[in-house]
Amino acid sequence: MTTSLTDRWNLLHEELPVSARLLAVSKGHPASSIRELAQLGQRAFGESRLQDALPKQEALADLDLEWHFIGRLQSNKVRPVVKAFPVIHSVDSLPLAQRVSRIAEEEQVLPSVLLQVKFRPDPRKGGFDAESLLAIWPELSALPAMRIVGLMTMAPLDCPTSDRQALFAECRALADRLALPECSMGMSGDWRDAMAAGSTWLRLGSVLFGARPVSTPAMG
Ligand SMILES: *Cc1c(COP(=O)(O)O)cnc(C)c1O
Repeated sequence: MTTSLTDRWNLLHEELPVSARLLAVSKGHPASSIRELAQLGQRAFGESRLQDALPKQEALADLDLEWHFIGRLQSNKVRPVVKAFPVIHSVDSLPLAQRVSRIAEEEQVLPSVLLQVKFRPDPRKGGFDAESLLAIWPELSALPAMRIVGLMTMAPLDCPTSDRQALFAECRALADRLALPECSMGMSGDWRDAMAAGSTWLRLGSVLFGARPVSTPAMG
């Protein structure tokens, strides 16, 4: 069975509840595919590498798109990321959050930020653990030049299927406790579990675009 990008976008939208939005993860895919989805009404696109994203943003500057940064954010890339992305899903430490706020202030922008949280041990990924996030929440929420709108999480690769919904539910519960509306959770392999647990941003790449033509390392 072959389906087109347009078919897959339409099929995904039939399943999305009104509470969840699709973040089209376009890393590794060309500007022409992004343009095709934009014509269907897709506005939010996720990229994980600054240097790949910038030329696409330039090629698509005629469209009104909302760019989300979802990759691991290196401190030396904060300035260009803050300038190019109004939404950042991957702020994973207090020093990084402080740096984002300071640079955003200098650049006179106000990014929307999701804090990346790790609910299970995972040496491959960064992220706050839930307890330290609660402990430093007063400092985080006082940062002047960012709007903290939610939490982001990823299930570890070896997370048993049976534990995924519980993990995503923990993320939803922590976001609720902090009165944060957004939960960025769910990728191609686990988005239905994330959706059932209250995800508001499903970050979908391969299930939408097909396999990535160029390999991009898993980020985060
Ligand atoms: C690549 C990526 C995705 C999308 O992954 P798929 O499995 O292709 O849907 C989602 N989130 C992050 C942080 C990513 O790096």
